[in-house]
Amino acid sequence: MERTLCIIKPDAVRKNVVGEIIAMITEKGFRILGMKMIRLSSQDAGEFYAVHKGRPFYNDLVEFMTSGNVVVMALEKENAVVDYRALIGATDPAEAEEETVRKRFASSKGENAVHGSDSVENGIKEVAFFFSERELIG
Ligand code: GDP
Repeated sequence: MERTLCIIKPDAVRKNVVGEIIAMITEKGFRILGMKMIRLSSQDAGEFYAVHKGRPFYNDLVEFMTSGNVVVMALEKENAVVDYRALIGATDPAEAEEETVRKRFASSKGENAVHGSDSVENGIKEVAFFFSERELIG
């Protein structure tokens, strides 16, 4: 079993498509181990995306991710990381496959509806960034 972190980003929360995105995820067989709606602080967002510090879009990314509520979910499934990345589609919705979350709901490369961990190691780390073990269903 693998873990991956989903964040439903502020653009998707504003569009009121949280329920549709959760349905797409559960229909693919992911189990939700933990879920909460929160507002990220600049410090949270900056730390979460620290790997992108110095990239030209970093400040915009932090500003966007703190612009409204997000829904964070710890997901579990066999091959969760690769399967969830396939479900959400490419970073840029213009390049995302049909029927992916980003093709359906993202408006741009920056405002792209959802986050997904990019490796098994980061899946574990990112779930732990938002959830303590006792918040997760065993
Ligand atoms: P992901 O793993 O598909 O989310 O993509 P990355 O790890 O490359 O980038 C992280 C996040 O930064 C993306 O999901 C976007 O929200 C944002 N981002 C990446 N590239 C760009 C860009 O060129 N412009 C803007 N505005 N945001 C970007």
